[in-house]
Amino acid sequence: MAKKKISKSDAEWQRILSPDQYRIMRLKETEPAFTGEYWDHHEKGVYRCAGCGIELFSSESKYDSGSGWPSFFAAVSDNNIRKEEDNSLSMQRVELMCDRCGAHLGHLFEDGPEPTGLRFCINSASLRFT
Ligand code: FE
Repeated sequence: MAKKKISKSDAEWQRILSPDQYRIMRLKETEPAFTGEYWDHHEKGVYRCAGCGIELFSSESKYDSGSGWPSFFAAVSDNNIRKEEDNSLSMQRVELMCDRCGAHLGHLFEDGPEPTGLRFCINSASLRFT
């Protein structure tokens, strides 16, 4: 199903998001480990994009990676997440972004558990649990 992209100016995002969310989601900063709302959160439900509300992750694919960031071994739908090469900080990483509103979410690593072996390492600030 085609989804409509959401595009807002920086000024609009700054109005909608908290200062921390704006820095992380629009300026691609990272929240300090073990500080976010969801790294140690274990309720059953859905984690949505804090920018546009699209479903990103299920609590069923959440696991404790020990990293201090919410970690998932799979996304609800790969269509909702965009992957881009990120060569910042002298590292080669895969950046994860919301495909609908372009929010920075976190990074993808290949040291996750079965069945995928993937670790979606996500900033709590980019998520809203429902
Ligand atoms: Fe979004």
